[in-house]
Amino acid sequence: MGNHVVPGDLHSLTIFEELLKCSVCFEHMNRPIYQCHNGHTLCSGCKARVLNKCPSCRHQLGDIRCLALEKMAESLQLHCRYEEFGCPEIIPYYTKLMHEDSCNFRPYSCPWPQLPCSAVGDIPFLVSHLTDCHKAVMLYGCKFKLEFLTEDLYKYQSYKWDVTIINCFDKHFCLHAEAFLIGSTPVYMAFLSLIGNQAETGNYSYSLEIGGNGRKLTFEGIPRSIRESERRSLESADSLIVLGSMAHSLGGETREPKLEITGRIWKSQIPVCTCVDKTG
Ligand SMILES: [Zn+2]
Ligand SMILES: [Zn+2]
Ligand SMILES: [Zn+2]
Ligand SMILES: [Zn+2]
Repeated sequence: MGNHVVPGDLHSLTIFEELLKCSVCFEHMNRPIYQCHNGHTLCSGCKARVLNKCPSCRHQLGDIRCLALEKMAESLQLHCRYEEFGCPEIIPYYTKLMHEDSCNFRPYSCPWPQLPCSAVGDIPFLVSHLTDCHKAVMLYGCKFKLEFLTEDLYKYQSYKWDVTIINCFDKHFCLHAEAFLIGSTPVYMAFLSLIGNQAETGNYSYSLEIGGNGRKLTFEGIPRSIRESERRSLESADSLIVLGSMAHSLGGETREPKLEITGRIWKSQIPVCTCVDKTG
């Protein structure tokens, strides 16, 4: 490890870490690190914001790099900030931010649509948050059945949604069902997401089916990860989508058609390489 600062020397590590925090935004500074004539340091983002005046001493900033600090930071290795969530990584200072942006242990944000909910936490926290605070229903098993919220859609010109938690294969999935109007055309949309990382989603497949009056509409897909923005995603079209008149042929001619979704989740086969000789 040579001259790396290792966690054993906790006191100097803490002082050093403090030195690397920007005096304006208090975040760890990335290269380039700037300083004023009096030695006050700040990050490049804040330097651009403070209009070339040192926020500590009001002197002109100029373009003075603090190479000594930049260099010292190179030798620093820190724990990932999500250590308490189980991340075992100790990471070189400059790659820490990059790692943390995509760390598999980073907490999840609450996927409840529309409401500005700021809850974040690990999977057990999020599952109890969804059931306790948002009163989401939890269903057990890999086959499920539920009803689309179709009532009152016109009356309130509104956007309606529901998130149901499906607990199967020791995982938690969210079934998002949404209904909204585009002009006067109602759109019903449903998709599944996994409370887990992107990399795990490929292990599962699911199907959703809406049937009635001798007709049936089926969608088969791979769950998303709740890390993806799951706000309205009609553009991605990676969902079961039922449009206006189709809803009536499936759910009845009434103003509020009765649409029942049946679904299934299964473990996907690991794809086998089927490469063939290209010379043929
Ligand atoms: Zn800053
Ligand atoms: Zn200064
Ligand atoms: Zn991490
Ligand atoms: Zn929430």
